[in-house]
Amino acid sequence: DYPLVTRECLFKVLLIGDPGVGKTSFVQRYTNNIFRTDYKGTVGVDFALKVLRVNRDMTVKLQLWDVAGQERFTWMTRVYYRDSRGCIVMFDLSNRKSFLSVAKWKRDLDAKCSMPDGSPVPCLLLANKCDLRERHVTIDEIEQLYNELNFIGWTETSAKGDTMVKDSVKYLIDTMLKYE
Ligand code: GDP
Ligand code: MG
Repeated sequence: DYPLVTRECLFKVLLIGDPGVGKTSFVQRYTNNIFRTDYKGTVGVDFALKVLRVNRDMTVKLQLWDVAGQERFTWMTRVYYRDSRGCIVMFDLSNRKSFLSVAKWKRDLDAKCSMPDGSPVPCLLLANKCDLRERHVTIDEIEQLYNELNFIGWTETSAKGDTMVKDSVKYLIDTMLKYE
């Protein structure tokens, strides 16, 4: 006998990272369970909403902000970042440059927003395209960066192969709920 009325939490979650790492593909896999290779580059920001019943009396509304990586949009970032309660920084395991940008994205996030109590916004580090054999980043390097930059966790993902997409978002939701 599930109650008809549940507590509802709205979480704004940002996806950031260099263009081409797979942010839009990840959001599409997560929200629609599809993978296509022909998304045109996001201009500005795309939104996706997912409503989840996380337990007997709690509903989470997840608002995923798929942020364009293009530098020319940085003037919008303060608006993007406002009121976010979670973040995913993504890089592409086959693209070393995208890995080297991770620190910049994380520091930009921490400089531009924080939780109401002043603590950093919970942020997950995702190493996408783990289905590819060609890799230009080692696990040791990822571990080192992960430890330096205060992420809540990191994992390899594949939007293409549907690897750790739902599980990683679930982990972020569980962490965000602890702040509620
Ligand atoms: P965005 O610019 O970060 O939004 O990246 P997109 O989602 O547009 O993806 C850029 C390219 O990488 C597209 O050609 C995708 O098909 C491809 N891509 C995204 N995720 C994966 C993945 O997990 N594995 C592989 N092999 N390709 C991916
Ligand atoms: Mg995109």
